[in-house]
Amino acid sequence: MTRTAHVIGAGISGLAAATRLVRAGWSVQVHEAMQQAGGRCRSYFDAQTGLVIDNGNHLLLSGNHAARDYARAIGTEAGLVGPSRAEFNFMDVKSNARWKLDLGSGRLPFWLFDSNRRVPDTAISDYLALAPLLWAPTTRLIGDTIPCKGALYDRLVQPLLLAALNVDPPEGSAGLAGAIVRETLLAGGQACRPLIARDGLSAVLVEPAVAFLNQESRGVRFGHELRALSWSNDWVVGLDFGGGSTLELGPNDAVVLAVPPRPAATLLPGLKSPQKYRAIVNAHFAHVPPTGMPALTGVIGGVVEWLFAFPNRLSVTISNADRLVEAPREQLAAQIWAEVCQVAGIQAELPAWQIVRERRATFEATPEQNALRPGPVTQCKNLFLAGDWTDTGLPATIEGSVRSGNRAAELVLALGGRRRDT
Ligand SMILES: Cc1cc2nc3c(=O)[nH]c(=O)nc-3n(C[C@H](O)[C@H](O)[C@H](O)COP(=O)(O)OP(=O)(O)OC[C@H]3O[C@@H](n4cnc5c(N)ncnc54)[C@H](O)[C@@H]3O)c2cc1C
Repeated sequence: MTRTAHVIGAGISGLAAATRLVRAGWSVQVHEAMQQAGGRCRSYFDAQTGLVIDNGNHLLLSGNHAARDYARAIGTEAGLVGPSRAEFNFMDVKSNARWKLDLGSGRLPFWLFDSNRRVPDTAISDYLALAPLLWAPTTRLIGDTIPCKGALYDRLVQPLLLAALNVDPPEGSAGLAGAIVRETLLAGGQACRPLIARDGLSAVLVEPAVAFLNQESRGVRFGHELRALSWSNDWVVGLDFGGGSTLELGPNDAVVLAVPPRPAATLLPGLKSPQKYRAIVNAHFAHVPPTGMPALTGVIGGVVEWLFAFPNRLSVTISNADRLVEAPREQLAAQIWAEVCQVAGIQAELPAWQIVRERRATFEATPEQNALRPGPVTQCKNLFLAGDWTDTGLPATIEGSVRSGNRAAELVLALGGRRRDT
């Protein structure tokens, strides 16, 4: 008996669900509204710089097990490149101070006991003050849970949580921050090694999945935006893609809806979902990094937050960036480039550049918005939700997306012999 799963959306969550279902023997058809897969995690050729760039620099950590398993399953784990130890270079552009945080490669955070490996000017007691995050509920503010000032906060906690939650940490959900700390810092250096898709997000995390789906199953249909679902007796029975393109589902078929919250709420009226988002701004510069420059540098005290050194470009990430979305692009590029030169230790004219502003990069990881995240189960027995904005227990990350896709796939598989009466 043929069982087809229709996965709506070819972002990371949809691709994770689809690849898992194909491996479990289902026939899978992915429907993607755009002409390209990857959603908020994609690469493209940018004429202004003459380079293939990512829409945003994405950082994974070695503790992101689901994301790494996904990459392994599509044959690209080696494309996630990083050092053998969890070392992070930082610079404060106000004081010109530089330091390296060395979390080692072990399973326990022994680095805490070595003052040379800790954040400069911090004591063990500063780290112990973070403990309440570990058991904090998602309804609590980070600002009400841990001290949001001092050297440890400025030099580690703020940059880490800002990058992970994409909100100013004090306003973020302490429960979401706690999940990050438990799965990374507390799990020792072996869980904190930075991993970067050096050859591009699409080459490492997207295109191989699409190729796998095209080869092993029904593949990805591009430009196929789902406009409406129809259901009967708590089962989805049809998909409407507009322009007369409709699909009638068989009694064994299932649907994974892996689209962002807005289209999900349009397709499923009454669905509870986050309503507020935060932007991320990335700046890409066509300048080959100086020899020996670290692949990643955390920047404190300026507008730049993380500087990525790719083989053919320098790229900058600025999170929680709503304030920069309307800023004049030329001015922003010049300001960011001046800081990049300072951090990279170079003197160079502004090279060809591109600024990418993702206005709805992530849902707002505040307690209020987190409370609006739905689980994967819907009122329809054969319809499941996936996406970084569903209730994964993590902020909006690749790891959360993959877990949500896996979870939706498991629910499809758990349908077992259940079928709709016809
Ligand atoms: C600039 C930026 C930087 C980031 N940095 C990091 C990082 O460093 N580390 C990290 O872990 N995460 C990072 N993230 C978050 C990460 O990119 C997301 O969590 C992840 O890509 C979300 O995947 P998704 O599948 O849940 O959603 P999406 O990527 O939004 O995918 C949804 C897909 O559904 C499609 N779609 C929408 N409506 C329909 C419809 N009606 N029919 C068919 N298809 C439809 C969309 O076109 C899209 O392809 C970053 C995000 C951005 C934007």
